[in-house]
Amino acid sequence: MDVDIGTLEAVLSPYIVLLKGSGVEYVSDALARRLGVVTDHLMETLSRQGEFFSPSRGDRATISFTSTGNDPVFSYTDIPLRGVRVIALSEEAAKPPLPMDQGTHENCPRMLEGSGASCLMVDKGRIVYANERFCTLVGQALKQVVGRQVIELVSRSSRAGFLHACEALASGDEEALLEQEVIFTSTKGPRIHFMIAGGWIKRGDHDLLWFVMRNVTEVKVLERALKERQRKIFELFERPPMGILYISTRGKVVECNEFAAAFMGYPKEKIKGSPFTAFVSPEQVKTLNEEFHRLFTEGSEIKRRECVLKTGLNTMVTIEYSAQVISRRGHPTKALMICTDITDKKALELELLEKNAEMERTLWDMAEVKDALEARAGELNKATEDLKQLNEKLSQLSITDGLTEIYNHRHFQDRLSEEVERLRRQKDSVLSLLLLDIDDFKHFNDTYGHQCGDMVLKQLAVLLKGSIRSIDILARYGGEEFAVILPGTGTQPAVIVAERICETIRSTPFTFAEGTTVKVTVSIGVGTITGSTADKPQLIKKADSALYAAKAKWKDRVEVWEED
Ligand code: GH3
Ligand code: MG
Ligand code: MG
Repeated sequence: MDVDIGTLEAVLSPYIVLLKGSGVEYVSDALARRLGVVTDHLMETLSRQGEFFSPSRGDRATISFTSTGNDPVFSYTDIPLRGVRVIALSEEAAKPPLPMDQGTHENCPRMLEGSGASCLMVDKGRIVYANERFCTLVGQALKQVVGRQVIELVSRSSRAGFLHACEALASGDEEALLEQEVIFTSTKGPRIHFMIAGGWIKRGDHDLLWFVMRNVTEVKVLERALKERQRKIFELFERPPMGILYISTRGKVVECNEFAAAFMGYPKEKIKGSPFTAFVSPEQVKTLNEEFHRLFTEGSEIKRRECVLKTGLNTMVTIEYSAQVISRRGHPTKALMICTDITDKKALELELLEKNAEMERTLWDMAEVKDALEARAGELNKATEDLKQLNEKLSQLSITDGLTEIYNHRHFQDRLSEEVERLRRQKDSVLSLLLLDIDDFKHFNDTYGHQCGDMVLKQLAVLLKGSIRSIDILARYGGEEFAVILPGTGTQPAVIVAERICETIRSTPFTFAEGTTVKVTVSIGVGTITGSTADKPQLIKKADSALYAAKAKWKDRVEVWEED
């Protein structure tokens, strides 16, 4: 067995049971004696009862061996040690008298009493001495401490450690002893960490164990705080979704986080120790070296720059990085570099730029098309305007006589129809018509020529136009015949107009190109209708008949239609 029973009995209690799995390995003779049975018998009894010492019964359970017929009640401590369970029992009711009950402190070695460290003295597992310092630390009065099993004060997690320490102490292995750290529980709450040393001391018949303990709680607290700080630093280093690298003044990567390793496509070990520029695309190495040189010599910052890295997977990634110098005692030691992978963002930016350019081109094209359309629309407008003018000209031509430039026969007919129609609606109104024929014009033509005849026709039209009102309608009725419609004009005023025309023509000399002047006369027939007798053919017939009459009466005169 790996366990030193002697030490266990000295440190824990004379009443020891060792269990291995479900079997009983060892029972101390002292326990068998106390129960009044032989050791083998007790071993058998305990083996039969199987899980006698239930591990679930906690830190300090009690037990009585009723089967033995003798039933003292024990409390016990259960300590796992190198594959065995060490059960240390102590009797609850009748604690045997302590060897140093009387005048314990007077008998204590001076070295323990005067020690600045905490001191304990143990006899067969029981504390027989504790100095003031120890009592203060564990927050218990001396009388509460003395007489207790020392193992009960040791925190459960370090009980095995405590036993190791005691074994080392028993074997004189100083180095093993120094490594042990034991935690004592305190009534004040916090656990107290001790490094312990000690030895054996003989007092009368007793071999006593003495412990000198150095309180390392503060160191432990500091250690824990340091660990926590390291954990936090680690988290700060590893948690953020960005690459963090430390770059030495020589440009080598001192440290990098997993995130950086991931987008660089190399394991951390490969990155650490390599120059950062080893991962940079060749054409950017020079720029980057210059930047880092400036960073370390001028203590400046690098802010949000971009560079392209060649990854371990032979791809290119674009990163955005910032860097700052870390100095110790005024000297730059390294630079902290923060990078983010902006490859996707970059690709998106490029795509957007392309799209933008494409849109710009489309807009230009559209502007050109718009200009062309506008020009075309201008042309169309002009063409429409020209057409309108042409139409107007055509419609004007269609109603104009080509020689005299007054209304032609067809338009005369249309206008006369309109006037007759209006007269029909205005029953009490009147309408007169003058038909005018040049006298002996055939002869005129024969004498002066047809061209001179045309000129007479033209000049006559001008004269006629000047002789009538703007509301009167003048037209060429036939070859050398003219018609004048006089709306709202009765027979008498019409005759006056006709007479005036006759007189004007009679007295006007017509001139030709070569200076010849001739006179012509006209005969005029006047017809009139009223609203009640409004009939167009009737009116023409009346004027025509009157003209016929004028011709018959020597011409150069005005005749009015008279009812037979
Ligand atoms: P009357 O006094 O009875 O009207 O005699 P007239 O010679 O004028 O008679 P008629 O009506 O028979 O002859 C009309 C003439 O007018 C015939 C023609 O030579 C002439 N004439 C008709 N149209 C034109 C024209 O456009 N130009 C010219 N120069 N002469 C025309
Ligand atoms: Mg005629
Ligand atoms: Mg005539």
